[in-house]
Amino acid sequence: MKRVYMDANATTPLLPEVLDAMRPYFIEHFGNASSIHQQGQQARAAVEQARESVAALINCRAAEIVFTSGGTESDNLALFGLVQPGDHLITSSIEHHAVLHAAEKLRERGIEVTFLPVSGDGVINPQDLRRAIQDNTKLISIMMANNETGAIQPVSEIGRIAAEADIYFHTDAVQAAGKLPIDVQSLRCDLLSISGHKMHAPQGTGILYVRKGTQLEPLFFGGSHERQRRAGTENLPGIVGLGKAAEIARVALTDGTVEKIAALRNRLEQGILSQVEDTGVNGGSVRRVPNTTNIYFDNLEGEALVIALDLKGLCTSGGSACASGAAEPSHVLSAMALAQPRARASLRFSLTKLSTDEDVDFALEVIPVAASRLRELAPVNAGTLG
Ligand code: PLP
Repeated sequence: MKRVYMDANATTPLLPEVLDAMRPYFIEHFGNASSIHQQGQQARAAVEQARESVAALINCRAAEIVFTSGGTESDNLALFGLVQPGDHLITSSIEHHAVLHAAEKLRERGIEVTFLPVSGDGVINPQDLRRAIQDNTKLISIMMANNETGAIQPVSEIGRIAAEADIYFHTDAVQAAGKLPIDVQSLRCDLLSISGHKMHAPQGTGILYVRKGTQLEPLFFGGSHERQRRAGTENLPGIVGLGKAAEIARVALTDGTVEKIAALRNRLEQGILSQVEDTGVNGGSVRRVPNTTNIYFDNLEGEALVIALDLKGLCTSGGSACASGAAEPSHVLSAMALAQPRARASLRFSLTKLSTDEDVDFALEVIPVAASRLRELAPVNAGTLG
């Protein structure tokens, strides 16, 4: 059966070039990057090469890159590494749970936390941020692009506000890396998270950019790896894969790939809106990453549509991967003040650079049929939509 994957924001497939780059580091060049013999030195050279490649993607020094196990660890390292009881942290209500739940845990430990609201289109207002700043504000953590809607946050302005107020700024760029150009110098951020598996590197890889001079308490204690910022033997093949994926992502930002993905996304979105009644785009009027659209299909259950589409061979998602299956509607759509039935009737379609015109044709074939069948079989009362 034909299968079409439109869930890139959950994870992306490894690119063959990435696997080829990684392959020798499993068996042939298996060394521990801390060993002084040749096997170790080879491993060290490969790790440092990957560090350069990732640094080039975000315009920082290689020494400012800390390899981690992924976006979740990077976010946790940024937050737990910087704030102490008595400090104030500002974040937003639409962050990934890796930031939200970390912030909630910090609050239990005596850190003051402000969760900024968002507009109906899912964007933070920098004026709200300015108003939230206190004398003890130590860190601002605002994502670059939202994983559910793709909405791009005003991070340049936030970086400027943070720098003027002399407050650390962390941005979760997990859903932006490879989709938007990232320059930590113009952004003026101090910390930035990236996850490998959202950009065609292996799952379980990631980085935290840590601006030189930022005093960060590590999460793990052990060896002096990663300049004492992250103890533990480096994941050599994973890091090599992440480096390769960063090189490929950097090229894709300028060779028309990103524009191609945006054109496919736009055709998919317009096709759904014109072929399926009572649909609309959540956060459709703001700048979004090129691969993502979040669409509500009023009068049906989103989870049921995800399953119906899966049975037809189309992979989509009814919220963030971690939240799907939970009865609660997405916290992001709720923060955007969507009525609960509409939030529950929303699907995320996220394309990869491997997506094709045929994939969009296929989606536009199966979605209208599945949506109308579900509406006939199990109508959801439109009166409750509000
Ligand atoms: N931050 C955002 C915005 C994400 O979308 C995700 C994953 O969905 C994460 C963090 C967590 O990344 P990882 O899966 O690498 O732990």
